[in-house]
Amino acid sequence: MFQTSILHINRHALVNNLEFIKKTIGNKPRMSSVIKGNAYGHGIEVFVPLAESCGVDHFAVFNADEALRAHKSIKRNSDIMIMGMIDNLELEWAIENRIEFFVFEFDRLFAAIEKAKEMGKKARIHVELETGMNRTGFDESEMEQLINVLKANRKHFEFVGLVTHLAGAESIANYTRITSQIKRYKAYYKRFKRHGLKPKYRHIASSAASVTYPDTRLDMVRIGILQYGFWPSPETFINYTVKNETNIDPLQRVLSWKSRVMSTKYVNTGEFIGYGTSYIAKNNMKIACIPVGYAHGYSRSLSHQGRVLINGQRVDIVGVVNMNMLIVKISDIPETKKGDEVVLIGHQNGSEITVASFSDFSNQLNYEMLTRLPKEIPRIVEF
Ligand SMILES: *Cc1c(COP(=O)(O)O)cnc(C)c1O
Repeated sequence: MFQTSILHINRHALVNNLEFIKKTIGNKPRMSSVIKGNAYGHGIEVFVPLAESCGVDHFAVFNADEALRAHKSIKRNSDIMIMGMIDNLELEWAIENRIEFFVFEFDRLFAAIEKAKEMGKKARIHVELETGMNRTGFDESEMEQLINVLKANRKHFEFVGLVTHLAGAESIANYTRITSQIKRYKAYYKRFKRHGLKPKYRHIASSAASVTYPDTRLDMVRIGILQYGFWPSPETFINYTVKNETNIDPLQRVLSWKSRVMSTKYVNTGEFIGYGTSYIAKNNMKIACIPVGYAHGYSRSLSHQGRVLINGQRVDIVGVVNMNMLIVKISDIPETKKGDEVVLIGHQNGSEITVASFSDFSNQLNYEMLTRLPKEIPRIVEF
């Protein structure tokens, strides 16, 4: 493998986070590990077997392609659930391989029932309800027909889940909207039950709701960002610290990103560094080139602002982030040489560059920064 940087995936951190989640949600709900967006940048192929080895047995993806990748990666008997896109033509594959999928409109529901009939197998469905996010889900006007169709076709599907998704549980500003969604969901559930339609799992909570709204935990929770060691929002973390009278962050970042110094050189006072004239050396300087740029997911908006760790020191990016390279000032650590470790995200000798600091500077959310890490960067598990 030839590469200019490596993503390290730390098993201890994952175990720690899963323990925290377990402690928070209690024993009742089953955890579905959300691995859409290439497992939030951690890499589906690496993350799935690792999470399985830590006891995870249910994974949630966005589409059929991610489900296929997860399916090829599982080593145990874990279940896979598609929460978003599956083409009607992909349903056969899903049914054949016992892949669970959300159903939120009649076209997919009818296609799934047809396919299941034809194959003599059951489609494993999660029925998604519209409760106020206004994205996907059956709404009130469709409910009667939905219930009738489900009752008439019991033989052809396994009613795995009754689902809704909350529109922003990570912010108290959405409190009214969220609580009204929860209420609507509960009313729908009762209606389904009255018709003898009982799902195996009721689930509505993602990371934020699981922590902030205990009554959303139900039978299953869909946990993404927390398991990777990040809070859905600073507010969710503060809410947690207040409720638990602590200021310690119980989460540990699973991912770190490392590269090496490619070359070093001296620059005289008054010289411009890099493209254009945006950076001028005010003194004689020593600089280092790092072989990572925006093509590798290192945002160009970190030009002049980003920091990396070399020899345990925080050093500044000078000039603009290039496509495949960035330049840092190493005047304070002139002993730095070619091949020295560079930490772009993570720890080195007691200092840390967090994804949050990174995203603050680049105006990206943790979620976005992580999922932009290209698939091509190798992921290595640290035990
Ligand atoms: C992404 C997603 C989740 C997980 O969200 P986190 O905030 O990362 O926990 C849960 N449910 C659905 C439907 C999602 O799309």
